[in-house]
Amino acid sequence: MPSAVTGVIHDLERILLTPEQIHARVREMAARLNAELAGKVATVVALMDGGLFFVADLLRGLEMPVRLFTLSASSYHGGTATSGEVKVNWPANLDLRGQDVLLLDDILDTGLTLSVIRDRILAQEPASLRTCVLLSKRRQRLRDVPLDDAGFEIDDEFVVGYGMDYQGRFRNLPCIGILNPNKPS
Ligand code: 5GP
Ligand code: MG
Repeated sequence: MPSAVTGVIHDLERILLTPEQIHARVREMAARLNAELAGKVATVVALMDGGLFFVADLLRGLEMPVRLFTLSASSYHGGTATSGEVKVNWPANLDLRGQDVLLLDDILDTGLTLSVIRDRILAQEPASLRTCVLLSKRRQRLRDVPLDDAGFEIDDEFVVGYGMDYQGRFRNLPCIGILNPNKPS
């Protein structure tokens, strides 16, 4: 692990998923999509910023032509509990009618974010819609979200790293971990 990263890892209580585990699973997810979307153009709708690394790694494993649209959605306002309200910056020119859409996000928690975005995508009548997340929390959802693939099922704990932040920090960790409750300072 590079030394700049080792310092940040001291803020973790424990590592949940190593970079090797993440990359192996993301490769499997890409292989499945390559089989399912062979011969089609994938229109990827990717949620930022948390999905940044997952989306970058997954897309590099895709073999079909890909169009990428990024959206920002927020239901967290700097804390570790959901506010129950989802804000989305939906691009005015995003037309998904007749497209094979692949919706990507870092983590499914309450389900609010993805259900709001799925409803908006479905209202545009795409040819197909697949929803894939890297992490799915084992918990009661506020909204049911049908997933086509989830990289890992995890316990209901707040995770950081591999794109996911706590108050703007820890996105650059190559692993995914649980924050040490006594840190960061
Ligand atoms: P939901 O709307 O499903 O409750 O939450 C989805 C969003 O909340 C995710 O896209 C992610 O940005 C954020 N989120 C949920 N759980 C966690 C977590 O454990 N860690 C971090 N960093 N973000 C989370
Ligand atoms: Mg997110």
